[in-house]
Amino acid sequence: MNIIILLTCVFAFLSTCYSQSVWNAKRSSWLSIDAKERNMIENYIDGYSTYLDKARTELTSTKELMTMLNKEGFTLFTNSSQIKTGAKLIFNNRDRALIAVTIGSEPITKGSRLIGAHHDSPRIDIKARPLYEQDGFALLQTIYYGGIKKYQWVNIPLMISGRVDTKDGKTISIEIGRNPKDPILIIPDAAPHVDSPLRKREYTGVMEGEEMDPIIGTIPDQKNSIINTVMNTLTEMYAITEEDLVSAELNITPAGSPRDIGLDRSLIGSYGQDDRACSYVAITSLMELNKTPLYTAMAYIVDNEETGNVNNTGAASSFLNTVYGIIAEAQHAQSFNENLTRKALSLAKVISADANDGISPLFPGLSEKTNASRLGFGPSIKRYGRSFDANSEFTAWIRNVLDTKSIPWQTASYKVETGGGGTIGGQMSKEDMEVIDIGIPLLSMHSPFEIASKIDIWNLNRFFTEFYMAQ
Ligand SMILES: [Zn+2]
Repeated sequence: MNIIILLTCVFAFLSTCYSQSVWNAKRSSWLSIDAKERNMIENYIDGYSTYLDKARTELTSTKELMTMLNKEGFTLFTNSSQIKTGAKLIFNNRDRALIAVTIGSEPITKGSRLIGAHHDSPRIDIKARPLYEQDGFALLQTIYYGGIKKYQWVNIPLMISGRVDTKDGKTISIEIGRNPKDPILIIPDAAPHVDSPLRKREYTGVMEGEEMDPIIGTIPDQKNSIINTVMNTLTEMYAITEEDLVSAELNITPAGSPRDIGLDRSLIGSYGQDDRACSYVAITSLMELNKTPLYTAMAYIVDNEETGNVNNTGAASSFLNTVYGIIAEAQHAQSFNENLTRKALSLAKVISADANDGISPLFPGLSEKTNASRLGFGPSIKRYGRSFDANSEFTAWIRNVLDTKSIPWQTASYKVETGGGGTIGGQMSKEDMEVIDIGIPLLSMHSPFEIASKIDIWNLNRFFTEFYMAQ
């Protein structure tokens, strides 16, 4: 080989090394685990899958999370004498949101570690006077909840769950369609034989909002009323009347169960992973702490994120501030004043955890690939720009927590001018807390069957456990 060819080869090699970004060199997280860790992942995902199967809405999620926490020794907060170092407490907000807390050895006015996530997911809600008849069918009037692509909810098995509250103070839990032997509801589509008048509809308007009504029955009673038959069945099952449906929260969600995806079983598909993935991980990571943290560790699981954090169980409510005030007051007794609550909030380090969109193999052009996140490459630090991000010093602190334990991670930024999404982070920043948005990438977000990589959920669990203990 002559010297010129040799030099050219050396130069070509060096320039390849130089142009290779550190991000291009990152490999799938699956390459860094052994068989033992793979087993641990499957065990963790088993628990996650069981939770997802039962937790279809914020109501059933609260119930499941409370059951899990109770088993691990967390008790319902009822009075301030419970607030002692190492105490494991649950602050329940109206059975739709909760804060699970492990009291640290330092008072909350010295700092805290909080992970917030939402456990409501896009779905279809029924209206106050839902029942009507059309052409031999009884149907339900509905209004959809959160950002759904309406066409995805047509012609798939749907279940109904929620609560009905009666005038005499009873709460009745309703659930029809989750058990494979239950009947299901369905929003019927038009046949291709007759749908030519519909074919020019636009992508986002394949179904109109007022067309999202599921069938609930077809057999009339002797007065020729199908509504009567449906109501008689509901009265028999739950002892409720048609007027009781006014004081009800009934939600229509997909009826299917979580499933493994791919021959390698690397992915999990399920309704509601945005954001019951982060909710489950925030709670189980707190449950797994094997010693008392220095700073009080908290998992804040909220409702109503998908509709803008509204109402008294959403992140815009003052529930979180109240809980900080209760803890600070118990720890400072006579010297307590409201400024101590403000101080506790301002010294809190917060992860606003929420799912984010991963690169889709079918629509890669919707992502800006250099900065998009990928399934199987770890939790994502969200960098959305335009002043939505955590400040650089808190971001650096988080990087250190991740790297100290060699937890794979990546970043996520949207392609400019293609879309966006909200989280609960803004509500906590308003309280002067130090907040960073972190999530895991999903495919088919907000669809009836969202897709996550099991190893991202696992690494989120590893990260959250470290975060709660981090100093
Ligand atoms: Zn979300």
